[in-house]
Amino acid sequence: MKTTRHPERLRPFRAVGPGGSEGSRDPSAPVGPQDDGKFGFETRAFDTQTNARTGLIRTPHGQIHTPIFMPVGTQGTVKGLTPRQVEKTGAEIILSNAYHLYVRPGIETLQKAGGLHSFMGWSKPILTDSGGYQIFSLTRLRKLSEEGVGFQSHFDGREIFLTPEKVVEIQEILGSDIAMVLDECPPYTQERKPVKNSLELTARWAKRSKAAHQKEDQALFGIVQGGIFPDLRRESLARTVEIDFDGYALGGVFVGESREESLEILHQIGPEMPEDRPRYLMGAGTPLELLEAVSSGLDLFDCVTPTRYGRTGSAFTSKGLVVVRNGKYNQDFQPIDPDCRCYTCENFSRSYLRHLFNCNEMLGPALVSLHNVYFLIELLGRIRQEIEQGTFGTFKRNFEGQFDSNQR
Ligand SMILES: [Zn+2]
Repeated sequence: MKTTRHPERLRPFRAVGPGGSEGSRDPSAPVGPQDDGKFGFETRAFDTQTNARTGLIRTPHGQIHTPIFMPVGTQGTVKGLTPRQVEKTGAEIILSNAYHLYVRPGIETLQKAGGLHSFMGWSKPILTDSGGYQIFSLTRLRKLSEEGVGFQSHFDGREIFLTPEKVVEIQEILGSDIAMVLDECPPYTQERKPVKNSLELTARWAKRSKAAHQKEDQALFGIVQGGIFPDLRRESLARTVEIDFDGYALGGVFVGESREESLEILHQIGPEMPEDRPRYLMGAGTPLELLEAVSSGLDLFDCVTPTRYGRTGSAFTSKGLVVVRNGKYNQDFQPIDPDCRCYTCENFSRSYLRHLFNCNEMLGPALVSLHNVYFLIELLGRIRQEIEQGTFGTFKRNFEGQFDSNQR
């Protein structure tokens, strides 16, 4: 079947990164009904032992093979790395933050720049978080009402009032491929009442967000709240799905509850999220969290850990964290991870990296951040392969078995 294409809207898709298992797209191959530069999602393979699955998301800025890790560029930069370096890790999408960019440099600047892609020099897909989590965790003197949330900017104390509609408008101007609704993110609590009130407000805001959203080539995702209570999670999920979003996120997981409580929510709610939409777990990013989330059927993940750990010299490996400042690496001329193929591991030793950190050289944090981002992108690429080969369950058990038991 020949499908009509719209060249004025369709930007060229790029080849899949090194972590992908699909190979490059053949430009002469027939295109699916969703290959029109708009948002689309299809599932590809399902694991037989867990709820893990692979899939493909199409966006105006290219394809995303799921499950995938999204490096975080809160301020329009993945800290310490150039966009070219980020792309070379195999990253197919990054995350940025509407609230932070609204505070600085301001939405007028981003509008004049032609949106976030051109402002920051990144041509692949971007997901923007609404900033709900940041507003409810970073700012002071919040005034929460049905209409929206008023607060002082965490940066200069300026009074700001944001509504669900305004947050949609900001993300439309940023031009991200995937936008998130504004949600209320209550702190971790074992009390039901505040969690119930919060999910109800989030559901009403979600409805307004959907009604306000106009940008046709941008996906809008709803966010499921409900804390540690499976029944409240289900209620939030049902109310969010009723509104009909392009994808669904689990918010408020790994925010202070115990590991067992987080996993309980993941394992129960993940598989119940709509199968035909992308499922995004917000803010999870250690190797073991990612394995659990993938096995619960989640597709998209983000976390600041790769660059935050990178800045202090803590490096992910398949056996646990390597802290390069540690004195025992003084004359250790192995790479951080002998199995890793990143630029850092192919060229530099633990001894040299330790030296850079000891001398406060800026290359140290940059090189360890680069390794950490690569490591998680590569891990998810490997996970996609294992799911497609039907061996994910075994891979997960082996990975967990060799991981340092003190770091779980
Ligand atoms: Zn490496």
